[in-house]
Amino acid sequence: MWITHRCSRQFVGVVAAFLYLLFATPGGAANAELLIVNARIFNGRDAQLSAPSTLRISEGRVVSITAGAPVSLGGTVIDAGNRVVLPGLIDAHVHPSIPASFVALRDLQPDYAAHRSAAEARGMLLRGFTTIRDMGGPSFGLKQAIDEGVLVGPRIFPSGAMISQTSGHGDFRHRAASTVSNTGIDVMEQRGYGRLADGESAVLLAVREQLREGAAQIKVAAGGGLSSNYDPLDSVQYLDAELRAAVRAAADWGTYVAVHAYTPESIRRSVEAGVRSIEHAHLIDEPTMKLIAQRGVFVSPQAYLFSGNAFPMTGRAAVMPSGLDRMMQLAKKYEAKIAFGTDVFGGPRMYALQSKEFTARLRWFDPLTILRQATSVNGELLALSGPRNPYAGAALGVLEPGAWGDLLVVEGNPLVDIGLLEDPDKNLRVIVKGGVVYKNTLAP
Ligand SMILES: [Zn+2]
Repeated sequence: MWITHRCSRQFVGVVAAFLYLLFATPGGAANAELLIVNARIFNGRDAQLSAPSTLRISEGRVVSITAGAPVSLGGTVIDAGNRVVLPGLIDAHVHPSIPASFVALRDLQPDYAAHRSAAEARGMLLRGFTTIRDMGGPSFGLKQAIDEGVLVGPRIFPSGAMISQTSGHGDFRHRAASTVSNTGIDVMEQRGYGRLADGESAVLLAVREQLREGAAQIKVAAGGGLSSNYDPLDSVQYLDAELRAAVRAAADWGTYVAVHAYTPESIRRSVEAGVRSIEHAHLIDEPTMKLIAQRGVFVSPQAYLFSGNAFPMTGRAAVMPSGLDRMMQLAKKYEAKIAFGTDVFGGPRMYALQSKEFTARLRWFDPLTILRQATSVNGELLALSGPRNPYAGAALGVLEPGAWGDLLVVEGNPLVDIGLLEDPDKNLRVIVKGGVVYKNTLAP
């Protein structure tokens, strides 16, 4: 041996540090200053755009926003040319790690599925979604690779596997795999798509396993679904005690539970147990919406898919379009907090529909309200992760001093024509995440 064991360990440490510096921040750009000048800013909340302003980003965060031209130029300068600048968009319900149908997914090579997920994550960032909340699926590795700068994609708030009771919305097993005990753990469970758990102690274990992997929040299936095999749409899933166990295990880690639920019974039971985010909620009734609004619980509907645009709403899904309409009317009436999410998964055709959610919501909301949902309201929802927020220390979904430097420069005014966001290739001229420029088609 030409070096001692001790020396070789030091050598490995030096190499590791070098590799970290090389790959952790793409081009080291996150630490450089970035100036966006002549920016008319939608800050995520206010109806009025700012006067042409200078937005200064340093070390990934917004340092200052000042009216007029910059006092001094330094670092990289992008002239927005009085175009509209938005906070980076947030999708509160999406599945980057489900890049094929459930039937196909179980037969894919896991690394092939992972590469497909990486491509879809890149697509999401280029559609202007600088942050996503993953509502179920193995995205811990995807998140890590993006955060390290190895892959291009949004910030990810992972949930890990969706936790489900036997015969619930997350029971992906084949009919032949009748029980866990006689077949071993199903491949979908092994790979982290779903996690079956029955009884309080099993639910506690399942929640804690996701937290161990770094879940930012916990996803539980609390009622019947459309894409699952063994659960009638009207079924209520998990007993009060099981839901409470999940909520407590999450709360002990400082975070919260989001549930898949359509019906009043499943939503009410979840809210009473302390769940903070109701995914879908499309079949809710008036008293339950009132309860949600009173408790400050978020509803997280998906207008485009559940209007029947992507696939026909037939069979047990036939109730969805009218339910969605009623749900949105009730949410408006009681001023419930409405998240912006798309639930796209399953393949390139579905992921490509992500930006269609903006105009699908025009049936109920004006462009300003929709933009608030996709920025500051979603930012408020993500903040519920508390100490488990992977991007704590700066706000998401707003452009103000101290917020993350995530922004878009848009051609045209989406506060007037939100349909502009449906053509991101053409209309998103600049995309910045954490002060790093991922796209810039403006003249230097
Ligand atoms: Zn979903």
